Amino acid sequence: MAGIYLHIPFCKQACYYCDFHFSTNQSSVDEMVSTMIQELDLRKDYLEGENIETIYFGGGTPSILEGKHIRRLLEKIESQFKISDSPEITLEANPDDLSRSKLAELYNYGINRLSIGIQSFNESHLKYLNRAHTNKEAINCVENAIEIGFDNITIDLIYGIPFENEDPWPNDIATALDLGVDHISAYCLTIEPQTVFGKWLNQNKIKPINEELAASHFNYLLEKLNSNGFEQYEISNFCKSGCYSKHNTSYWQQKRYLGIGPSAHSFNKVSRQFNIANNAKYIKALNSGAIPCEVEILSNTQKVNEMMMTGLRTKWGVSLDEIREVIPGWETKNSSILKDYTQNQYLKLSNNHLIITEKGKLLADEIALNLFLDE
Ligand code: SF4
Repeated sequence: MAGIYLHIPFCKQACYYCDFHFSTNQSSVDEMVSTMIQELDLRKDYLEGENIETIYFGGGTPSILEGKHIRRLLEKIESQFKISDSPEITLEANPDDLSRSKLAELYNYGINRLSIGIQSFNESHLKYLNRAHTNKEAINCVENAIEIGFDNITIDLIYGIPFENEDPWPNDIATALDLGVDHISAYCLTIEPQTVFGKWLNQNKIKPINEELAASHFNYLLEKLNSNGFEQYEISNFCKSGCYSKHNTSYWQQKRYLGIGPSAHSFNKVSRQFNIANNAKYIKALNSGAIPCEVEILSNTQKVNEMMMTGLRTKWGVSLDEIREVIPGWETKNSSILKDYTQNQYLKLSNNHLIITEKGKLLADEIALNLFLDE
C-alpha cells in the first residue's frame, strides 16, 4: 500500500502562524497544475507499481483549485499508477472556498474525504490568526458538505490561543461536536521564526505561547472528545467509529508515498526526497525535464529514530520486531531509559509493541527524542 501527496502551493492570504510553503500570487495556478502533471509523468515508477490506497491534496490551499484542475491531476494519477478499488481521496479546504456548488463539484470529481481548516469558531481568534473565513462560513460549509453527501469529514482546530475575556476553547469544541463530524485534528498554536507571529514575538508585540494554557486546553479537549465517543489514535488526531485518516496513518506506519509539487516530500523506505520549496524554480526545473529535489539516503539509525518519533504518537505504538530488524540490539542500547519510562508508567509494552501511556502522551515527542540513537 502506498500514497500520493499533492502540494498545492497557493493561499489567499498568509495566516500569521503558518510556515508551510505557499504563495499568495495565484497567477500561475494553471501552469503549476501542468507542471505537477509533468512531475507525475517523470515519477511514475517511484512507487514501483505498488497499489495506491490514498491520494491527498494538501498545501497551501487545495480548495483554491478549480474542478478542472482536480480532474486533470486525478486522471493523470489514474493513468500512471495502479489505484486500489476504493482509495481514500482527501482534499484540504478552507471554509471560504466551499460554496455549495464547489462542494458538489469536488464530490463529483471523486473527493471522498474533506479536511476543513477551521482552526477556531471564534471571530476574534479567526482575525487574530488572520484566517480568511468567518465563524458562519465554517459552520455552513460543514453542514453543506454533509448535506451534499460527504460522510468522511475532518476539521482542524488550534488550541492555546490567548484570549482577553472569556476563553472560546470550550465553545470551539462544543460547536465541533454539534456539527457531527467523525474526525478532529487539534494542534497547539506554535510560533515559528519565519512567520508573522515569529516576527512579532521578536519585536515583543506578542507574548510567547502560554504552555499552561495550552496544556489545560489539551486536557479539556481529551476529556470532552473522550466522553463524546472519540478515540485519540494519534496525539493530535481523534476519530469516531474507526474513521482514521488512512493517508496520515500510512506516514506514521512508514509506508511508501510520492510527494508531488513544490516542497513536497517523498519516501520509499530507503531515502527521503525533498522537492524545492519555490514555485518559480520548481516550474523552471521541470520544464527542462529535471526533478528539483534533494535526496537523503536514510541510515538505519535515522530509520529507527523516525519510527520512534511517529510511532510513539499513535495508539499502535512502535513494533519492537520491526526495530530489531533494522537495528538488532536496539533495546540493549536503550535498556536503562526504557526501564525508567516503563517503571514510571510513561511507556508500556504490549504485544511486543512499545506504546505511550496516558501519562506519557503530553511528553510523547520528548520521550521519543530521549530514545533516539546517535549516528
Ligand atoms: S494555514 Fe493553510 S491557509 Fe493559512 S497560510 Fe498556511 S497553508 Fe495557507
